[in-house]
Amino acid sequence: MAMGEFSMDLSEDQVTLRDWVHGFALEKMRPIAAEWDEREETPWPFIEEAAKIGIYGLEFMMSALADPTGLSLMVALEELAWGDAGLCMSLMGTSLGVAGIVANGTPEQQMEWVPQCYGTPDDVKLAAFCVSEPDAGSDVSSLRTRATYDEATDEWVLTGTKTWITNGGIANTHVVVASVDPALGARGQASFVVPEGTPGIRMGQKFKKMGIRASHTAEVVLEECRVPGRCLLGGKEKLDERLARAREGKRSSGQAAMATFEATRPAVGAQALGIARAAYEFALDYAKERKQFGRAIVENQAIAFKLANMKTSLDAARLLVWRAAWMAATRKTFTSGEGSMSKYFAGETAVRVTEDAIQILGGYGYVREYPVERWHRDAKIYTIFEGTSEIQRLIVARAISGVHIR
Ligand SMILES: Cc1cc2nc3c(=O)[nH]c(=O)nc-3n(C[C@H](O)[C@H](O)[C@H](O)COP(=O)(O)OP(=O)(O)OC[C@H]3O[C@@H](n4cnc5c(N)ncnc54)[C@H](O)[C@@H]3O)c2cc1C
Repeated sequence: MAMGEFSMDLSEDQVTLRDWVHGFALEKMRPIAAEWDEREETPWPFIEEAAKIGIYGLEFMMSALADPTGLSLMVALEELAWGDAGLCMSLMGTSLGVAGIVANGTPEQQMEWVPQCYGTPDDVKLAAFCVSEPDAGSDVSSLRTRATYDEATDEWVLTGTKTWITNGGIANTHVVVASVDPALGARGQASFVVPEGTPGIRMGQKFKKMGIRASHTAEVVLEECRVPGRCLLGGKEKLDERLARAREGKRSSGQAAMATFEATRPAVGAQALGIARAAYEFALDYAKERKQFGRAIVENQAIAFKLANMKTSLDAARLLVWRAAWMAATRKTFTSGEGSMSKYFAGETAVRVTEDAIQILGGYGYVREYPVERWHRDAKIYTIFEGTSEIQRLIVARAISGVHIR
């Protein structure tokens, strides 16, 4: 396409990717979704199959991220979540850890640790990103997990409890954000890789959840967990410089946890979108089939307008997600919290659209024989994790006003 021309068409490669992932979602995810929701366990056979087919793994991520428009990963994630959000998260939890390494690690650290996060199709591995704590959720500046440096052995010692961690304790690689200097708040934090087999890290309680139940969520307990100096992402020199600047009260270029979340928000929005689309499509088909008072229920404006609203917000959410992904990939400056906007709107859309779908199905929407109630349960997490809807609006509000809104 010539410079200056504008198109909203997906490229041939993107369409091929979308159709391939859609086929996987339809054939390999939809049929097992209800079972893994009920079992509430990590779906290992599914993850292994996804790795063999090439949908879970380093190569998949690398090729999706290599797309200069940023849309490929969004398109793929929408399809996976359309298949099932819990199964999708069982694949995508690892990428949170990977994003933590990519956001803060040196090129050498990325080369060393990222492949280990995924393993290989014959030896599949998982990663986890551990930020949240029992008393530090939205307020990530107040982390209590401490990292202290043992100069004698060139080791970092990590102690604290992380909670709500996707793949927590079952991951091979954990990326842990901890406070090196609590007096500095978020600016005193750093990220550490805890490699497989490190003593002193273990799973605490596993949570029973409302939705995305095929995805494992648990506490991670760190008890004098020692990692080599090279596991500090970004390196010690850079950290010392950053801490010195923070102590002098100078601005620093970034905060460990926030940098990661900013990059992953459109990807989270894309998943919410996939759930919303699943529910919308199902409800539309149902409304055309279901007859009451001698006509299809879709012939009633009350139902048809609901579907029109569902489709409108779904398309609007996709445009916001694609814009934010494109801005991130082309390194545009986010002036109005566009990443947050996309995640916020897509998450809220997923909750509303799945609820509308239940209403359109009536009693059939409320029972587990149909997938719609599950989609609603799955959708709700998208207004909570990776920054709640309130926090996303806080980011947008601060960006557009320049005022430190609380
Ligand atoms: C299934 C699941 C998976 C998760 N996976 C991970 C993971 O892999 N890694 C990880 O680190 N974390 C993970 N989380 C944690 C998640 O990111 C947090 O739950 C989330 O950030 C909210 O924190 P909180 O639960 O402590 O709620 P709180 O921060 O206590 O918030 C409670 C309520 O207060 C509101 N609130 C808080 N502060 C403000 C404010 N300033 N203005 C207005 N409203 C405010 C919130 O929006 C919310 O409605 C996961 C959570 C779940 C449930």
